[in-house]
Amino acid sequence: MIVAERKPLAEIIDMVKDHKKILVLACRGCVTVCSAGGEREADILASLIRLGLKKEGKQAEVATGSLVRQCDKEYIDGIDQWKGQYDAIVSTACGVGVNFIANLRDGDHVYPALNTTFFGGSAEQGVWREQCAGCGNCVLHLTGGLCPVARCAKSLFNGPCGGSVKGSCEINSDVPCVWQNIYDRMGTLDRQKELSVSQPIRDWSVGGHGGPRKQVRDDLTV
Ligand code: SF4
Ligand code: SF4
Repeated sequence: MIVAERKPLAEIIDMVKDHKKILVLACRGCVTVCSAGGEREADILASLIRLGLKKEGKQAEVATGSLVRQCDKEYIDGIDQWKGQYDAIVSTACGVGVNFIANLRDGDHVYPALNTTFFGGSAEQGVWREQCAGCGNCVLHLTGGLCPVARCAKSLFNGPCGGSVKGSCEINSDVPCVWQNIYDRMGTLDRQKELSVSQPIRDWSVGGHGGPRKQVRDDLTV
């Protein structure tokens, strides 16, 4: 899922301070699962915005709503049920949701309530860890299922770099060296020999370095 966290309240208040009718719009997708931007978080944020604006001597109506997803054209139309009731939307979706609203609703002021951080998973209660960087050319079949792009500080394809200390990354000792993990895991799978084959220089153009990416599925287009 996409993992995100709420921006500092002061930053959000500053975005909306000149608006009089604000819709805090939750997304019931990934950000609900990571407890950053679901209906509960939107309700809390709406209360905090009301209080924050009041403290600044400003008054605004702050309503809440939610969409099934904000990353899908089909669901964005749901915004129209609040038409005329707001002059700004504070989206608690990830950056994709905010972009979609901006793409599809020319006249709407839309603001991000979250900092979108990474593609990750819930490792334990209240802890999410990055697992994938959406690099566009997955190599997990070569690395025992562990990602060297997102989980190695240097995104090495021929690791380890030699700097790890007792299994920890030299860049951040709180993080395991994923190349140590890959080596150990390939050993468990009896595939360690495969790691002696050097991987060629990678084409990063599919990794977002060539501008925004697009995916088209001919079997699904109409
Ligand atoms: S190799 Fe690329 S696509 Fe595969 S998990 Fe890592 S970042 Fe994601
Ligand atoms: S110590 Fe391991 S995880 Fe850290 S940069 Fe080197 S190879 Fe990557």
